[in-house]
Amino acid sequence: MYFRRQSMEDIPQEQTKIWSCSKDGCKGWMRDNFAFEYTPTCPICHSLMVTRQKLLPILDNSNVNLKLLKKGVQIKSGI
Ligand SMILES: [Zn+2]
Repeated sequence: MYFRRQSMEDIPQEQTKIWSCSKDGCKGWMRDNFAFEYTPTCPICHSLMVTRQKLLPILDNSNVNLKLLKKGVQIKSGI
């Protein structure tokens, strides 16, 4: 019997659209979360980036968490 820890393997993953650096050997990439209207450049080497699919953990809650964090800051600053 196995007692599996919560690991990366247990997190649901999906093919996610990302931007990947076009330069050989550069590992720069970013999620396509921001609906770019232009081709972004690599934050590391500033080369042009190309769209790709990458298997990533699903982060449905990331935006919600960010909103909650911002709300918290606003409430604090209002006191
Ligand atoms: Zn790069």
